[in-house]
Amino acid sequence: MKLAARYQNLRPSGMVRMFQAIEKMEGVLNLSIGEPDFDTEPDIIDTAAAAAHAGFTHYPPLQGFRDTQEAVCRYWERHHNLSSHPEEVYMAVGGVQVAHLALAALLEPGDEVLLLEPYFPPYAAQVVGNGGVPKPVPTKEENGFAPELEDMERVVSSRTKVLILNSPGNPSGRVMTRACLEEIANFVEKHDLFVLSDEIYEALVYQGKHIPFATLPGMRERTLTMGGLSKSHCMTGWRVGFGIGPEPLTRVMTLISSHQTYGLNTLAQKATTYALDSQDEKLDARRGIFGSRMKATADRLNAMKGVSCAAVEGAFYLFPNIKETGMSSEDFAWKLLESAHVAVLPGSAFGLSGEGHLRIACTQSEDTLMKAMDAMEAFVGGKK
Ligand code: PLP
Repeated sequence: MKLAARYQNLRPSGMVRMFQAIEKMEGVLNLSIGEPDFDTEPDIIDTAAAAAHAGFTHYPPLQGFRDTQEAVCRYWERHHNLSSHPEEVYMAVGGVQVAHLALAALLEPGDEVLLLEPYFPPYAAQVVGNGGVPKPVPTKEENGFAPELEDMERVVSSRTKVLILNSPGNPSGRVMTRACLEEIANFVEKHDLFVLSDEIYEALVYQGKHIPFATLPGMRERTLTMGGLSKSHCMTGWRVGFGIGPEPLTRVMTLISSHQTYGLNTLAQKATTYALDSQDEKLDARRGIFGSRMKATADRLNAMKGVSCAAVEGAFYLFPNIKETGMSSEDFAWKLLESAHVAVLPGSAFGLSGEGHLRIACTQSEDTLMKAMDAMEAFVGGKK
């Protein structure tokens, strides 16, 4: 057997290498995984089971069940004032498939895609896999990892076609302000770009409000809004994502998926229809829990020698600065795993601007987080 040349040098990302190492170890306090520790709510599970008994066991409509698409529209209108039609909604196998199909539909070979650092690593691989060229835009911690116009202008070229946005952001927890989004919108208009706006953490904003990029003037027709139920509804294993965007794009994404996944599984869609309409109070409760865990963990980090951690804005990640410890983020993360059995991700896994930081997922109980903080405090040599 000879693998295709383009995959012969495929290596696991920094994130995947850490996940693989943890799998082989026991007793790890795992703060590396971006998955809520809560199980899916039982009423959502019951809805899927009832749908199976009612006969929803056949192929789904390729773009999604109409009632599921309508529930997506209702949720985004109710929570975020984003109006859309069911035809503009593509039901995908997780948020990752939304990005993959959109890039497949949009990119010509050699087209460039702007990625705002620090970024979710699969984006870069997806751009390359679809014939494009990833162009990272550096950002700075002192600006809350928000992009600056001059950096975007320096990286953009006549070959740039797409900008990938992610707010609330993984790994930084950054939530872009309206002023920042407006500046990006002007830039997008000036350079005639299309935006893939990954808003999968829309339900987890602790200060202010989530603003969908597509609601900015002129951006509706230039944006595919990407969402999903993995984080908001604790449904990672159900693999439900969706794209809301211009119909010509969702139509082509549907056609591409017809020779790939052939739609999203029926039971997950029926569970989604129910979940999007019925869980608002539970979303609020979980936001409160994540928020207080993050605050408690950030307080502990800020008390540690050589560590500082910015205030919590969104998602469920902290992205502390560890530069004063003198270790690189890779060294820190791997030594912490080996010596203290605490798993976090090195910031360098998310692009150059992530160096000197760690990504800590507050997706464990407060008790586990505090035990991990005890171990990390001992690792860095105690309190300030
Ligand atoms: N986008 C971001 C920023 C993420 O952090 C993740 C998951 O960690 C995803 C997309 C993909 O989520 P899913 O494919 O589970 O919907």
